[in-house]
Amino acid sequence: MGNPRGFLEIPRIESGYRPVEERISDYSEVEKLLPEEDRRLQASRCMDCGVPFCHWACPVSNIMPEWHDMIYRGRWKDAYAILSETNNFPEFTGRVCPAPCEASCVLSINDAPVTIRQNELAVAEKAFSEGFIKAHPPKKRTGKKVAVIGSGPAGLACADVLNKKGHSVVLFESADSVGGYLRFGIPDFKLDKRIIDRRVNILIGEGIEIRTGIEVGKDIDAVSIRKEFDAICIAIGAREARDLNIEGRELDGIYLAMSYLEQQNRIVRGEEIPQSCIINAYNKNVVVIGGGDTGADCVGSANRQGARRVTQVEILPMPPIKRPEHEPWPLWPKVLKTSSSHEEGCERLWNIKTKRFCGIDGKVSSIECVRVSWQRDERGMLIPVEIANSDFEIKAEMVILALGFLHVKHTGLVEQFGLALNPAGNIAINERMMTSEEGIFAAGDATRGASLVVWAIHEGRSVATHIDDYLSS
Ligand SMILES: Cc1cc2nc3c(=O)[nH]c(=O)nc-3n(C[C@H](O)[C@H](O)[C@H](O)COP(=O)(O)OP(=O)(O)OC[C@H]3O[C@@H](n4cnc5c(N)ncnc54)[C@H](O)[C@@H]3O)c2cc1C
Ligand code: SF4
Repeated sequence: MGNPRGFLEIPRIESGYRPVEERISDYSEVEKLLPEEDRRLQASRCMDCGVPFCHWACPVSNIMPEWHDMIYRGRWKDAYAILSETNNFPEFTGRVCPAPCEASCVLSINDAPVTIRQNELAVAEKAFSEGFIKAHPPKKRTGKKVAVIGSGPAGLACADVLNKKGHSVVLFESADSVGGYLRFGIPDFKLDKRIIDRRVNILIGEGIEIRTGIEVGKDIDAVSIRKEFDAICIAIGAREARDLNIEGRELDGIYLAMSYLEQQNRIVRGEEIPQSCIINAYNKNVVVIGGGDTGADCVGSANRQGARRVTQVEILPMPPIKRPEHEPWPLWPKVLKTSSSHEEGCERLWNIKTKRFCGIDGKVSSIECVRVSWQRDERGMLIPVEIANSDFEIKAEMVILALGFLHVKHTGLVEQFGLALNPAGNIAINERMMTSEEGIFAAGDATRGASLVVWAIHEGRSVATHIDDYLSS
């Protein structure tokens, strides 16, 4: 702890975003970086607590006090060395992690928490810009071959750890590029895709073989994969989107969030999309149904495309602004999140149920809604109850359904490998993260359901350890 009075003398300063009027007309990252000297001061706010709750709350168990001290002392290489022991990709989490660590920072009991996420990003960016991160292929190979299926953060982390242990890893990906939702979900204004390429080039340099454009279960069958590899890790995400099958769903102009966001990611990287398939919000009244983070990404994209008006509706009540009493520190509080996309222009409506899509000439033109109140039923479960005479209509020439994901896709790979499912409909695993099939492991959203990048990295790291044990036994 370089400066024992840091937390008393230095206020929290956030990196901040580029001005709305500037960022709204491009897809570059909205968040800025602080100058190095300010970053060191921010790191000096870490109190080096006896029990660092931030470390407890971080899914990959980053050791904040140690690398914060290194930042404060300007020892960036050492900071990265410590950080990379627990997190394979701090440049991803440094950009998109919701930072449960900060909600658990001891300083946040009566002050603003340490800017842990932004400090993490600064370490990762410094490490890349100074050339600390170089490909270090393993000195010895074990002769064992592992197939990792799916190249989202879980698959990438698993492949990285196994490769470092000397196993030969082949990463299969059905899409044309690596990254999962990092690449084709999260918009470029939150995560520039060159950040993924930069890391993937290091992984390739260290000997990981990547085979894109191959859907396992369709382009290669389960039998051939099992024959070729000593172990398999399935990290295919939870990609069955939740739909809204109400009257009018068949109208043109209603899209699933992922169709919209993936296409926009592709346009930003310069792909030509046939005119008839383009989903564009220009000059339209856009309604995003679903008040979560994916919905917020749709809001940001619609505003960049020049939407006339963007409304985000959510059936749940508005979360509290401040930490509620039943979620005391150091727990993660479910409070209102206002993202950079919301700041760019969006009306947010809560307690709203969507009843019917209305259309003109086969195209959506408005949505019939009703207000709800949340009441307990006879089993004590909270349920939405329509409020009488509260019906209203929202004009909408474009509707985006951002209602989350149900579970892993059950067709294709899961069916072909004959994998058992857990009660939530995701791939069932045991305490060694092995599926119902010997030698086949699974990790990430495919087992835990739609979650976060940092949890996917954690699971990818854990499953790699179990696979290594399996291969060594
Ligand atoms: C729009 C959006 C925004 C998000 N924003 C955030 C955020 O800001 N912060 C955050 O922490 N989390 C965010 N998330 C969640 C986060 O992206 C996911 O939790 C995380 O990517 C899950 O990682 P994963 O590796 O398990 O799966 P995925 O990222 O889903 O990757 C699975 C990969 O498997 C591939 N695949 C599937 N089937 C096959 C097959 N049969 N053969 C070969 N390959 C296959 C897929 O093409 C995909 O590349 C967001 C998610 C979405 C959709
Ligand atoms: S990965 Fe997320 S929870 Fe962990 S230190 Fe970084 S921002 Fe905090």
